[in-house]
Amino acid sequence: MTGANFIGYKRSALGSATFQTIDPVTGNNLEVSFTEATIEEVDLSIALAQSCFSVFASTTLVDRAQFLNTIADEIESLGDFLIDRYCNESGLGLQRAIAERTRTVDQLRAFAKEVVKGDWLDVSIDLVETGFSPKRIDIRRMMKGIGPVVVFGAGNFPLAYSTAGGDTASALAAGCPVIVKVHPSHAGTNELVATAIVTAARKTGMPEGVFSSINSHGFDHGQYLVQHPDVKAVGFTGSFSGGMALYKLAALREEPIPVFAEMGSLNPVIVLRDVVEFNTEKVTDLLAESVTADAGQFCTKPGLIFVEEDRKRTFEKLLGQKITAKVAKVMLSPQMCQRYESLRNDALARSGELHYASEGKGLNVGSNTLAVINADQFLANPEWNQEVFGPFSLLVHCNSSDDIQRCLDVLHGQLTCSLFSEDYDRAFYMRLVSRFEEMAGRIIWNGVPTGVAVCGAMTHGGPYPATTDPRFTAVGPESIRRFLRPVTFQNFPDELLPPALQNLNTLGIRRRINGHFTVENVSVC
Ligand code: NAP
Repeated sequence: MTGANFIGYKRSALGSATFQTIDPVTGNNLEVSFTEATIEEVDLSIALAQSCFSVFASTTLVDRAQFLNTIADEIESLGDFLIDRYCNESGLGLQRAIAERTRTVDQLRAFAKEVVKGDWLDVSIDLVETGFSPKRIDIRRMMKGIGPVVVFGAGNFPLAYSTAGGDTASALAAGCPVIVKVHPSHAGTNELVATAIVTAARKTGMPEGVFSSINSHGFDHGQYLVQHPDVKAVGFTGSFSGGMALYKLAALREEPIPVFAEMGSLNPVIVLRDVVEFNTEKVTDLLAESVTADAGQFCTKPGLIFVEEDRKRTFEKLLGQKITAKVAKVMLSPQMCQRYESLRNDALARSGELHYASEGKGLNVGSNTLAVINADQFLANPEWNQEVFGPFSLLVHCNSSDDIQRCLDVLHGQLTCSLFSEDYDRAFYMRLVSRFEEMAGRIIWNGVPTGVAVCGAMTHGGPYPATTDPRFTAVGPESIRRFLRPVTFQNFPDELLPPALQNLNTLGIRRRINGHFTVENVSVC
């Protein structure tokens, strides 16, 4: 590790401003000073990305897949060095580090498979008989990469949503060069993974500029990147304020560009009376683990739990005890912990007396907390719509299913909604589910929202303010669609068409010809 930026293939450290990352467990600075990129270096990274875009976009699907697979191999070959740095910079444990690395490399390899399969190209060929002159129009459409993409590393996923995480993997799969804006809390993990990506790019003959990594501490670099005319899209995971600031900057550009920002969610969970009466042990176990795992630093952590009341409040008491009995964990960074404590204290001041909290002893340890209010209190204060990122949840007692419905009506867009019930009125279920569908990207039946499977059917997204664009998922192969745009070729000679659109289906991909899906050649009679 050198602390330099990657500008294309080269390490570069021309600037004078530096920063270090912090071990949140000890509060000590970690080895290596990271040199913030100069504006000239940022400009060069974008110029390289822009100039290599058409070459990269026209690499064969097999070559691009090989690039993604090689990144995965290179990340694995970093071995324990990567895992150690990840743990030191994040305060997260060994098991989580290994699981996140597995997720990251599996994701890259899954994209490699998808790239070759070619469904994402969405090829559609229509040979339209017009009945007038010209008698036939030949129209062929496919998707192509949108252009250079800026990815903001996520604070809470140093691997799976950062340098070679889902945003980068999907953008590269789409044929878009990527410039990563480092998250300053894990710049060392970033540098190691960036080295893996650049090595893979060289090994597989990808053009220089396909990937760059910009060290930065503060907002300037990110804002500059988002406003640069040659950047064509942005992937972001983080705070609402950060996501919206970047979204607005992108919208105000002379050429507005899409910002796919995933900004947080309360992930409401509904627990109906039948569960409160008969299944309290099991459901409180699940929820306590889901609220506190890795200090609750997941965008899918259940932050809001509506419980159809029992008079003795057994569910609340048991959940409160279980949440506080869990070992309170070190949070990702001192800033994350300070922000958590401040939002948690505000929430406790709003909720009044009743809450359960572990003693948050130790440096940067976030106290596991369950605050308790009733439906009227919830409805009286719109501030309950604000996410408290960390091991905190709010339990809302509801007297009836009507109370639950009224509370749901005031909620904003969410990544997930969950329902715990097994034996209830079907008409009520249907009303709830219909509200969930309006409000969230993923709906969970008798389960917790944490744990997002990487697969084709996954939706990790949802209506504003969970994200800035509810039409896409940020997880799974479908996330590639964020970085694609359609292009139609009309009446082109076959030899000038991209391979995916030519009469002979040499790629063996599935295409829609005159409305029918097939892998056959186009017959031009
Ligand atoms: P963040 O503060 O939003 O920062 C994420 C990245 O965006 C960082 O690189 C940051 O730059 C940059 N950034 C933030 N605001 C910006 C702005 N106005 N202009 C330009 N760049 C900006 O997220 P975080 O550091 O990961 O965590 C902070 C808080 O975000 C957490 O306490 C939590 O509330 C929320 N969060 C939510 C989720 C979720 O999925 N729901 C995930 C992570 C974090 P610098 O850091 O270099 O200044």
